[in-house]
Amino acid sequence: MPENVMQIRCPMVCCYAIRVNECVYLIDTGFVGGVKAIERALDQEGWRGLPVKGILLTHGHLDHTLNAASLAERHQAWVAAPAADRLLLNGDFRVTGLGWVGGAMQQLGAVFLHYRKAEDITWYEEDTPEVFPDALSIVKLPGHTAGHSGFLFGRHLFCGDVFASFGAASHLSPGIFNEDTELAKRSLLEVAKMDIDGVFPHHCDGAPPEIHLERLRGIAAKI
Ligand SMILES: [Zn+2]
Repeated sequence: MPENVMQIRCPMVCCYAIRVNECVYLIDTGFVGGVKAIERALDQEGWRGLPVKGILLTHGHLDHTLNAASLAERHQAWVAAPAADRLLLNGDFRVTGLGWVGGAMQQLGAVFLHYRKAEDITWYEEDTPEVFPDALSIVKLPGHTAGHSGFLFGRHLFCGDVFASFGAASHLSPGIFNEDTELAKRSLLEVAKMDIDGVFPHHCDGAPPEIHLERLRGIAAKI
């Protein structure tokens, strides 16, 4: 794990913090219990006291966005999310295709967990918005959701939900959670071809990023 990247393991999903120029940026915000896990992680040696400047969302699914509003308020941080996932961020999880099953689950979750949208979201598309630190660039990886994106950071890619990485059980995101599984496969193949050293997935075990990349390439070889 690069020393300026921290994996924060939250229940069901993990998220990441990166350190750039003595500022912290969060990549996604976890699900139930995420705020507690993130605050505890940020209180560690080397991270404590650094300002949290921004929250970057890979896509609009609830298990990545649930805590964006409260963390943004707590830290006075900006939030950036993909424009194509605007409906999801607004709390409308109805999607087409098989993804309606996952959409319905999230719709219920949003009501039950009192989801609220962060105020003042910077909507990003192809161009990397000015708020992003220079060290990060957006890689569009559509399919899981329309706006699903990764972030390239040096020779590592925060790859969102392009796959789940659990040893021999690693897999492409299940169809019920994808807006377009064929497109999601193509995005995974794009990542497999990238000249990088490792990936950071959100549904994963604690393996190092180079092992996650190896598993992703293993899935790509079978597509
Ligand atoms: Zn997702």
